[in-house]
Amino acid sequence: MCGIFAVAGRPDAAEQTQLGLFALQHRGQESAGIVTVGKDGGFQSHIGMGLVSEVFAHGEAAGLEGRVAIGHVRYATTGASALQNAQPLIYKTGHGPIAIAHNGNLTNALQLKKKLESRGAIFQSTTDSEVIIHLLARQEGPIEDALIASLRQVEGAYSLVLLTPEKLIAARDPYGFRPLILGRIGATYVFASETSGLTLIGAETVRELEPGEMAIVQDGKLKTLKPFPPAPAPARCVFEQVYFARPDSMIFGRGVQAARRDLGRALAHEMTGIKADVVVPVPDSGVSAALGFSEVSGIPFEMGLVRSHYVSRTFIKPTQELREHAAKLKLAPVPEALRGKRVLLIDDSIVRGTTSKKICKSLREAGAREIHMGITSPPIVSPCYYGIDTPRSSELIANVHSQDEIRKFLGVDTLHHLSLNGMLRAVGKGDESGWCTACFTRRYPTPIPDYQVAEAVK
Ligand code: AMP
Repeated sequence: MCGIFAVAGRPDAAEQTQLGLFALQHRGQESAGIVTVGKDGGFQSHIGMGLVSEVFAHGEAAGLEGRVAIGHVRYATTGASALQNAQPLIYKTGHGPIAIAHNGNLTNALQLKKKLESRGAIFQSTTDSEVIIHLLARQEGPIEDALIASLRQVEGAYSLVLLTPEKLIAARDPYGFRPLILGRIGATYVFASETSGLTLIGAETVRELEPGEMAIVQDGKLKTLKPFPPAPAPARCVFEQVYFARPDSMIFGRGVQAARRDLGRALAHEMTGIKADVVVPVPDSGVSAALGFSEVSGIPFEMGLVRSHYVSRTFIKPTQELREHAAKLKLAPVPEALRGKRVLLIDDSIVRGTTSKKICKSLREAGAREIHMGITSPPIVSPCYYGIDTPRSSELIANVHSQDEIRKFLGVDTLHHLSLNGMLRAVGKGDESGWCTACFTRRYPTPIPDYQVAEAVK
């Protein structure tokens, strides 16, 4: 998954973008980058591997001149975690220099790439985003027309920002899988994956770009258009609300924290009959849901697990022993909150089941008498091809094991997943259609040609 951010119309555009990316850090921790248009009309950029605070640790953003900037934080979902794939991607084309930052996965990128390569295209990265640039480079006419013609050929998910020396363009695919928000500070236009990025820099949220909408900022003026054939229905990623987005953000028209609290409330309505002494969230994503659960069930909320915010991936990676301890390094049980208690443990999802198993083991070791696990989404049975990092089907525990087998594997007394309708009712609040639920239902809203091939050979 990734986060994107753009600012048009401020002398400190790069520094504002750095702040915006910082507030989107949860969307990707592998690389970060910013591109601006300098006074001479050429691009200036700083892109590196690591967190925003690491990549821009020495004032690099302040050194990027220009009133327009785009930025990106990346979590690799296609292509390796390597500098060549870090974004924004920058190219010299017949249209002039172009930089692009993309969130979402294209589902026909491999097919398009093969076709382009057979006609002589040479790819510099292994990201699907580069396909858009190669398609665009082959089109004639103004840049927005070339981009529209290119995006009409791609399938899948994209929320993107594209920079040229004259224009900043933002676009969202017709299904609207990933969020993209338009904000404003005075005369400055801002685009962000989530409102958390806008809030941090003091920008007001104007509105979400609509599915299939494109916005062009040139000479301080904003123009929007809807140039793509509309999708049969929107397909907003429900997992953004369940797990991915930051709780202080407002996406798809709803506050994330409120949506999660409603998910917890809905789960409590479905999990009647379970006797427990405390409701314990798996922090951080389970906290809002556990509050909602506690409110409806009347079972007291207890922070029975605390999260360490100081464990970095690089610390965990080097040795097998540290990897084994990864779950414990991140989450520590609080014995006096758990000893002798019947615990109702709330988490947002089970993917492989491995982290949850370790958490349950540590709760037992801390003295929990019973563990009843409540998950605020249905079982994940199929991979995401639109940008969430999920493993292949064979590694998804709910795809290969029954609920009772999962319960035994986790070592819990009971296990309950929120129903699909319960989840959609809680998240949608009167707008229960128009969501992508493919990871729970195997119903993909678009064709997935690249992955049908990929899964077949696994
Ligand atoms: P596991 O027990 O190994 O299935 O991991 C489940 C945990 O992973 C839950 O606490 C989720 O909040 C978290 N999770 C779900 N999806 C993702 C994802 N795409 N990337 C990282 N963590 C995730």
